[in-house]
Amino acid sequence: MYTDKTVAYYTLGCRLNFAESSTLAYRLQQMGFTRVKTGGSDLVVVNTCAVTEQATAKCRQQIRKLIRENPGAFVMVTGCYAQIDPQALISQVEGIDLIVGTEYKGEDITSYLGDLSKNSEPKVISTRFQEIHTFHASCSADDRTRHFLKVQDGCDYFCTYCTIPMARGRSRNPHIADLVASAGNVAQHGGKEIVLTGVNIGDFGRSTGEDFFSLCRALDDVEGIERYRIGSIEPNLLTDELLHWIANESKRFAPHFHIPLQAGSDEVLRLMRRRYDTALFRRKIELVRQLLPDAFIGVDVMAGMRGETPELFEQSYSFLDSLPVSQLHPFTYSERTGTRALEIKPIVPMPERHERTARLVELSERKLRDFYASQLGSSRRVIWEEVTAGRKGRQQPMHGFTENYIRIETECNPALFNTCQTLTLDGSIGESTQGLVIKIR
Ligand code: SF4
Repeated sequence: MYTDKTVAYYTLGCRLNFAESSTLAYRLQQMGFTRVKTGGSDLVVVNTCAVTEQATAKCRQQIRKLIRENPGAFVMVTGCYAQIDPQALISQVEGIDLIVGTEYKGEDITSYLGDLSKNSEPKVISTRFQEIHTFHASCSADDRTRHFLKVQDGCDYFCTYCTIPMARGRSRNPHIADLVASAGNVAQHGGKEIVLTGVNIGDFGRSTGEDFFSLCRALDDVEGIERYRIGSIEPNLLTDELLHWIANESKRFAPHFHIPLQAGSDEVLRLMRRRYDTALFRRKIELVRQLLPDAFIGVDVMAGMRGETPELFEQSYSFLDSLPVSQLHPFTYSERTGTRALEIKPIVPMPERHERTARLVELSERKLRDFYASQLGSSRRVIWEEVTAGRKGRQQPMHGFTENYIRIETECNPALFNTCQTLTLDGSIGESTQGLVIKIR
């Protein structure tokens, strides 16, 4: 049907969005579309994000740019921003033909393309977030080595600062058997690593009566997969049972944890309506360190939340400074329409928010360097990733990650692409275009 047609994509936001775009790209390719970077394309697809004010501004900017670069193209916009505020997109960006909400983001999205002739008015295919029920399966296949497998979608937590439940609906998931089949498929295609991704993956099982621990144990038996990484998991859902199993029994789950804290002050956690306190968080981190001393622990933290007085921020900073974690992922609080945080006072001035974020970034850099230093000389298993030749065909160094998420750099050897190697981290800590690395000879 679309054999002579071209499509240009743009995805913003989280790993989940990239997995979903990758799956959509595969479907459109099956329908005959040829993917192009941009410029003169017949179809433009933008998968949007709405997690912060900056993210929505960037979406509008990118859509306008793609419309300029692809005059006459049929423009389809989907993703969280499309679900949360289609009218804002229509009123602020001219030239959009189709806006598709979360409920329709999956299988049948292509049935709205027609013959790609532009609509006089933007068409909106969407529902209220309360009516989002469908789980659309996705698994990214852009990278030969690492695949992002969507295991869960939506969230029932409604933290006061967050719009994601309004963008993605209630917590839901497929059956364990479906995900085991998807992992098997990745193994068949030579994939080595799978990252379990979703919105609140620890809440897996909500719509099938299963649970996250059972999912992990079932996936652990899939032959051909070298390792799994657990994407972001809420601290109250990272059970002791799961940690003991990963440390003592699992064959394939990596010692790598990404755990959102958001604030290191119980008062601020209460204002956020998070489901744990700093005591629980510290206990979890200490249990990980006790069971898996060399595990990589990344922690999400927000700066400048409504109600976060300078004293409460200092409390948060000292708590984070005292935690034996590997890296922080700091971001600045931004007001989101329709969230209860808007009722909270006092409001932290934006320059103050940015200053706090900058201090957390500095703290994170120190922790990451200390963690890398602690791994020098250790024996680790690296999966080498494919590299494309650099500018003027100059050979780029090769990179790979260890099981505990250390980025390793060495001289390029295409024979090692997408293979696993056990080696001793004899080398030096350095910087690469992608961040901190251990350079080995
Ligand atoms: S757990 Fe909270 S912050 Fe995370 S997606 Fe759900 S509502 Fe948002």
